[in-house]
Amino acid sequence: MGNTAVVVGGGIGGLAAAIGLRRVGWEVRVVERAAVLDDAGAGISLAANGLRALDELGVGAAVRGASRGQYTGGTRTPGGARIARMDGAALERAVGAPIMGIPRSTLHRLLRDALPAAALVTGAEVTSVDQAGPGAVRVECGAAVLEADLVVAADGIGSAVRRRLFPDHPGPVHSGSTVLRAITEHPVDLRTDFELTWGRGAEFGHIAFLDGRAEWHAVLSLPAGTRFTDPRAELRRRFSGWHDPIPALLDATRPEAVLHHDVNELRTPLPSYAVGRIALLGDAAHAMTPNLGQGACQALEDAVALAAALGAGPTVEAALLRYDTERRPRSQAVARAARQAGRMGQQLSHPLAIALRNTAMRLTPSRISTRMLLRHHAWVPPSLN
Ligand SMILES: Cc1cc2nc3c(=O)[nH]c(=O)nc-3n(C[C@H](O)[C@H](O)[C@H](O)COP(=O)(O)OP(=O)(O)OC[C@H]3O[C@@H](n4cnc5c(N)ncnc54)[C@H](O)[C@@H]3O)c2cc1C
Repeated sequence: MGNTAVVVGGGIGGLAAAIGLRRVGWEVRVVERAAVLDDAGAGISLAANGLRALDELGVGAAVRGASRGQYTGGTRTPGGARIARMDGAALERAVGAPIMGIPRSTLHRLLRDALPAAALVTGAEVTSVDQAGPGAVRVECGAAVLEADLVVAADGIGSAVRRRLFPDHPGPVHSGSTVLRAITEHPVDLRTDFELTWGRGAEFGHIAFLDGRAEWHAVLSLPAGTRFTDPRAELRRRFSGWHDPIPALLDATRPEAVLHHDVNELRTPLPSYAVGRIALLGDAAHAMTPNLGQGACQALEDAVALAAALGAGPTVEAALLRYDTERRPRSQAVARAARQAGRMGQQLSHPLAIALRNTAMRLTPSRISTRMLLRHHAWVPPSLN
C-alpha cells in the first residue's frame, strides 16, 4: 500500500503523527510553514490518555520526567473558598497518572527530538493538497511539489486542507471567550499544583511546573478581537481582590510574556476525518475549547490510532476509514463535553446560577468528580509494536 507520508503542520499533533507513522515503518516528511519549529503557547496539562499515547510513541518517559504531577488544588471562588478538590492521587490509582504539567516548548522539543532532523521541513507553507490519481496525493508548497501515498493534515484550527476537503463546512467559530496566559519568569510560592478560580464570566488558573515556575491563564467572556494596550495591567485590574497567589502570579510575569488569543472551536462536527488518502488530525479535525485540557491529548490519541490503523493495512483507504470510525465519535464527544464545561464554568455569569453550581459542586463527593474526569482520561492505546 506504499509507505511515504507528508504531514502538514509541525505542532504537537503533526509531530506525534510523524513519530507514530515512523514506528510502523513509514517514511515521513513534516512540512511546517513557520521558519522555526516551536510551540508559542505557555504551558500544557497532559492527562493519562495523552501520556499513554506518548508512551506508545516511545516518548512517554521523557515527557513524564520533564513534567510535574498535579496532585493538589481544585476549584475556588474569587474569595478563595474551595468548591471542588483536585485528587491527583486518586487519578493516579485509577489510570496510572495524575494530570501532568509541562511547558509547551519542552513538550514540543521532546517530540522533535524523537524525529530525524531531515524529516522536518520548515518555512514551507502548503498551498494545496489533492489526490493525484488513485494511488498518490500531491502536495504543493509554493513552487515545490511533493508526492506521497498518504497526507496527514495536522495544520491546526485554521486548517486550509480541511477547507479544501469540506468547502461547505462553516469552519471555526468564536466560543465567546478570550484567553490571556503566560509562564512566570521565576518560581512562585504556590501552595497547590493546579487551581481554577471562577468568577462571573471569568476564570483564573495555574499549572505548576517541575522547576517551580507556573503557567497561568485568565479567561474572560469578551467579544472576538478584544485586545488590551497593557494586558497585564488590565488583568491586575480585573482580578484585583481575587485570592492568593493570583496577584503573585501576575507580578512574577514579564508584561511582554503575556499571550492573548480568542478562544475558537470547530462547533459543527466534521462528517469525516478521512477523504481518500488524506487524514485530518488534531485541531484540524476537532478543535475544541480548552476547558477540559484535552485538545492536545486528543491529538496524541489520533496520532497513535492513525499509526495503528496504517500498520494493520491492508490499504491506506481502508486504514483511514478505520481511523475515522475509531476517532470521530470519541473526539467529538470530548469536544462537546469541553464546550459544556466552559458554559457551566468560566462562562456562567448569573449570580444565582453561579451559587447553584457552586453548591452542587461542594456537595459532590470527590470520587464522583474523579469518575467524571476518568471518562476522558481512561483510554487504552492500540499497540504500535
Ligand atoms: C488556551 C489554551 C489552553 C490549552 N490547554 C490545553 C491543555 O492543557 N491540554 C491539552 O491537551 N490541550 C490544551 N489545549 C489544546 C491544544 O493546545 C491543541 O489542541 C493542540 O495544540 C493542537 O495541536 P495541533 O498540532 O493539532 O495544532 P497546532 O498546534 O495549531 O499546529 C498546527 C501547525 O500547523 C502549521 N500550519 C498551519 N497551516 C499550515 C500550512 N498551510 N502549511 C504548513 N504548516 C501549516 C502551524 O504553523 C502549526 O505549527 C489548549 C488550547 C488553548 C487555546
